[in-house]
Amino acid sequence: AHLDRIAAVDARVHAFLHVDADGALAAARAVDARRAAGEALGPLAGVPVAVKDVLCTRGVPTTAGSKILEGWRPPYDATLVARLREAGMVILGKTNMDEFAMGSSTEYSAYGPTRNPWDLGRIPGGSGGGSAAAVAGYEAPLAIGTDTGGSIRQPGAVTGTVGVKPTYGGTSRYGLVAFSSSLDTPGPCARTVTDAALLHAVIGGHDPMDSTSIPAPVPPVVEAARRGASGDLSGVRLGVVAEFAGDGAEPGVAAVFRDTVARLTKLGAEIVEVSCPHFAYALPAYYLIAPSECSSNLARFDGVRFGLRTGDDGQRSLEEVMSMTREAGFGAEVKRRIILGAYALSSGYYDAYYGQAQKVRTLITRDFTAAFGRVDALISPTTPFVAFPFGARTSDPYQMYLADLYTIPTNLYGGPAISVPAGLSDGLPVGLQVMAPTMADDRMYRVAAALE
Ligand code: GLN
Repeated sequence: AHLDRIAAVDARVHAFLHVDADGALAAARAVDARRAAGEALGPLAGVPVAVKDVLCTRGVPTTAGSKILEGWRPPYDATLVARLREAGMVILGKTNMDEFAMGSSTEYSAYGPTRNPWDLGRIPGGSGGGSAAAVAGYEAPLAIGTDTGGSIRQPGAVTGTVGVKPTYGGTSRYGLVAFSSSLDTPGPCARTVTDAALLHAVIGGHDPMDSTSIPAPVPPVVEAARRGASGDLSGVRLGVVAEFAGDGAEPGVAAVFRDTVARLTKLGAEIVEVSCPHFAYALPAYYLIAPSECSSNLARFDGVRFGLRTGDDGQRSLEEVMSMTREAGFGAEVKRRIILGAYALSSGYYDAYYGQAQKVRTLITRDFTAAFGRVDALISPTTPFVAFPFGARTSDPYQMYLADLYTIPTNLYGGPAISVPAGLSDGLPVGLQVMAPTMADDRMYRVAAALE
């Protein structure tokens, strides 16, 4: 049914870069066989899932939305992908994304943008716009995204779906094409909070192949979501970040947020204003740290090891071939970040830029720690604006970066955060973000589920 739905709508939505119909049908049959053989399978066995094209899938094309990886077929599965298969889930294909997960609209995909199922003239968010649109457009019941600065939550918010950034280290990065290794966090996209929790339980947990993976079991996320769904939040203290108020969410988004705060109060939650004075510096710190790590990570795309190679005529030097390959293979936003990052890391500038940004990161973490001494979780709008029309924010990079104003602090801190549909503004979805302390992913699910 999902392959039929993809065939019917994806020419318009373009959520997928690659549909693996044969692989999906074979996986579905294999689940039947495992069941027939008496194997006890988990609750998501047989359920289809779409995977962002930044996670390695053995033998299945993986491009990270870039021309430089066109035609590359990984020789191995990412840990997350292996866990989906182990759980008997059926991988439908690979979803569209901004090149190397850099962007907030999927307009920076080298393969053309994804369209928002709510309005085909508008962006589905990014970088994981393909995963969110696949779920919103009923092409897949569940999907996997990755969130470095907001790329699961912001697409979730603007497509009216649920997007979760788990605690950093709570989901494995092994086999994930790296953008910013200290921030990258894979997580679930779903239509309900409980669905997201069920997928979280499948993909989460320690992975010895990832040195930053937390050696602890997945928090009890499914139980927490079920408990929250009862709609009782009495005894829960929620913090509203004072500094976000001045930061100009558009009026329709601010109105939905106010209504949501009122609903949470009715459900029994106590709302407290908290101050996080360094959140104002999160965006500039992120745009030094993420490009710095990206300039280092993307050095491996050299025309030798993977995918594209341009200008290798047997005469040119290795350096010339590398340079021609990178010139042809990377898009403008990726090049901007590599140049920015290489500059920020260079000797003489390292302390002034990268070092300074790392100090700001510590101050932001302290803001979170102080806030969580007073409240159980923080809430905010997920993004300052609803889905915007194509082209509206591509001419000025800063306008695009603003999409992640409210999501980026969490990435710098490392805790979990979720975006849950909260209402509509002019007929377009608005998300509420719930941020919780590191490894308290269950608490975030409980609060979010109460709103459904
Ligand atoms: N939009 C942000 C960026 O461009 C975040 C991307 C992400 O989370 N992968 O870096």
